[in-house]
Amino acid sequence: MQTQPPAAAQEKIHRYPCPACGANLLYEPKDGFLACPYCGHQERIPQTAEQIEERSYEQYLHVRPGQLEQLAQGALEVQCQSCGALVTFTPPEVARQCDFCGAQIVAQPKAADPILAPEGVLPFRITQQQASASLRQWLSSRWFAPNALKHFAQPDAIHGIYIPFWTYDTNTQSYYTGERGEHYYVTETYTDRDSQGNSVQRTRQVRHTRWYDASGTVTRWFDDILVPATASLPQNRLEALEPWDLAELKPYDPAFLSGYKAQRYQVDLA
Ligand SMILES: [Zn+2]
Ligand SMILES: [Zn+2]
Repeated sequence: MQTQPPAAAQEKIHRYPCPACGANLLYEPKDGFLACPYCGHQERIPQTAEQIEERSYEQYLHVRPGQLEQLAQGALEVQCQSCGALVTFTPPEVARQCDFCGAQIVAQPKAADPILAPEGVLPFRITQQQASASLRQWLSSRWFAPNALKHFAQPDAIHGIYIPFWTYDTNTQSYYTGERGEHYYVTETYTDRDSQGNSVQRTRQVRHTRWYDASGTVTRWFDDILVPATASLPQNRLEALEPWDLAELKPYDPAFLSGYKAQRYQVDLA
């Protein structure tokens, strides 16, 4: 059984070596740098001047193979046999446990299939240490928290994983024809009896509706409508994560994947 990938394949793996000590730089949410966990060296993720591009829907309806690419060079992918989630990561990251259902991952990772690469990424802002500290604090207020949950408060048990979303802008134009009704009131006189039984004249307002033919157009612009491309999280959990700070979106760079995992989109574009 071959456990080592061939040398050629190994060379293609895109690592971010620390220029000071050669260890792997990892994305550091605290200050948005690539940072070396060993010597503390920091590097800014190169941000190209080009803006995050929003693309035409038609252009992507029939995706050609040339439009697909890997999330990062040398990215690996593994599928959870329990819940079906496909998770992408780059070495030296490993996938031992499913980030969604907690099942042990037994399948061997394979080279990640190309996908429509993301245009933008919302980088993590909370470090692994901060996340597990928050969880520990929350757990300390729960007397009967199950041990399986407490396990996640271990410093190494929390992992960051990027969740895929589609975002849509759309300019809608709707035409309508129909009838528009306008209410008007007419004063009517009627005969009634008072408490003594005498006949009295009274008036009341009666509503009528006058109908007109109506037609027209309504144009509306929708900006950044987010549609989750994951099926692994319940809708209410996803909603609890909102609002996403879309103003902080950065042009996608494989460096953001360093030290993190990413879920492959499960909901297709069309
Ligand atoms: Zn270093
Ligand atoms: Zn799973």
